[in-house]
Amino acid sequence: MPHYDATAVTGGPLDLKTDPVGRRVAVGLAKVGIALRHRAWQDTGRRRLTPTQGQILVTLRAAGEATISSLAATLAVSAATVADAVGALVRKGLVTKARLSSDGRARVVALTAAGRRESQRAMGWADFLAEAVDGLSPGEQGALLRALVKLIRTMQERGQIPVSRMCATCRFFRPYAHPDPVHPHHCAFVDAPFGDRHLRVDCPDHAEAPAPQRAETWEKFTASLR
Ligand code: SF4
Repeated sequence: MPHYDATAVTGGPLDLKTDPVGRRVAVGLAKVGIALRHRAWQDTGRRRLTPTQGQILVTLRAAGEATISSLAATLAVSAATVADAVGALVRKGLVTKARLSSDGRARVVALTAAGRRESQRAMGWADFLAEAVDGLSPGEQGALLRALVKLIRTMQERGQIPVSRMCATCRFFRPYAHPDPVHPHHCAFVDAPFGDRHLRVDCPDHAEAPAPQRAETWEKFTASLR
């Protein structure tokens, strides 16, 4: 019987029989995406909101307030789509819309008290996925988060997804600043060490680093896994 090393990264006989790993991962992520979309429609539908309206409430909860154009960039939809959704939310009494003092043409959107309560409920729409992630070991959670950060950053650099407020692009991020293997990174905003499991992908305290710092940070962050 031929020997087959199942732990080999490449070169096993199954490499000839299966799709490339990138395609299989993409299929797996697409299945998760289908589940998320399905749940988003179910959840927001119960509350008579569209998924876009629910996402606007969740985004405003984290951001405090936002212009139509920044909401459109965050959600990767057109400004017209956001304007329609915001109009519906205004009619439902969940957000207010006012002129931005520094730019009379721009509109700034904020939650009302009812909108804050609704946004709290809307935040729970992805809990089923968070519960599945809770079933992974701490090491698996850290590795998954790290891999997601790398995927998001790659697609972000290619202009394929909206910009995320994540540690990897933050001016406060100091990767591998500490010898501690569990908490090797440092956040200069809260002045504390942290590990891969605590990497943020939508941090309200994020401040975009200048391009040279982003490149240097990325080099340090990814060097350990090459
Ligand atoms: S401020 Fe937020 S995004 Fe920036 S390094 Fe700290 S935790 Fe990460």
